Amino acid sequence: MTTPVTYGELNAFMENYVGDYPSAPEGTNFWRTPLLATARADERFDILPKIAAPDHSLPKDLLSTGKSIIVFFIPFIKDLAEENHHGKIPCRNWGLAYEATNDLINSLCTEIRDFLEDAGYHSALVPATHNFDPVILMARWSHKHIGYIAGLGRFGVNAQFITPSGCAGRLGSLVTEADLGDHPLVSEKELCLHKNGHKCLACVRRCPVGAVNANKGIDRKKCWARLQSNLHETRELSGLQQTTDVCGKCQVLVPCSLGIPTPEIKKETNLIYAEKSV
Ligand code: SF4
Ligand code: SF4
Repeated sequence: MTTPVTYGELNAFMENYVGDYPSAPEGTNFWRTPLLATARADERFDILPKIAAPDHSLPKDLLSTGKSIIVFFIPFIKDLAEENHHGKIPCRNWGLAYEATNDLINSLCTEIRDFLEDAGYHSALVPATHNFDPVILMARWSHKHIGYIAGLGRFGVNAQFITPSGCAGRLGSLVTEADLGDHPLVSEKELCLHKNGHKCLACVRRCPVGAVNANKGIDRKKCWARLQSNLHETRELSGLQQTTDVCGKCQVLVPCSLGIPTPEIKKETNLIYAEKSV
């Protein structure tokens, strides 16, 4: 026996769970209100091996009886984004937030699964991170590409994922038998200023190793090498988990960090950037 579950009920469940989630050990709460999009697990997802990675899984590979995709974004607080702006090495809190958010995402996915199980629906989960091919550095289950198809956000020049709450944050997704319908949050083709014909490319300028290019997008190998050297060769991240591959300089104090970018937000961001960089 199953009981229908609506998008609104699931969204309220998720918001309450994240709102009540305990702070990190240092007492810092890194998160704003999460965003949720759902989509029917239909033929739109067949394009994943073409646009993401050739061996990208399809929703039916995870759960043959799956009817919907659930994808969510947990945005970071403004203070954390601004703290990570300083210097060329990520701040320790950025690394701690990465670890805490991975735990939150994994735990939230388990809670959503149990919530839906109580209503009579099975679900299949995917880990928050490190489900990628180590050679081509492309995910076999890309939360960003899933979010793109479901209408949670759009890609920036830097391959970061811009949602209505910006790109500074992390994504999670799962497949479920519950029929939740299509609930996109974004209908625009693009959200990135540069892709919409405005001047920006702040993310290109902010990358400390030149891994972002206006025409070619992101050089994944260059970026990955930087994440590895940050983790293994800097004092800021010493002692953190071996999977804490972080940088995020192209995600912070850029016009798309905390919301949908506009030319006005770009001006404000430039002013804050100039002020904080002196
Ligand atoms: S910083 Fe500017 S160019 Fe880069 S992704 Fe964001 S809006 Fe696009
Ligand atoms: S995460 Fe860091 S190294 Fe990678 S593209 Fe962004 S700024 Fe460059």
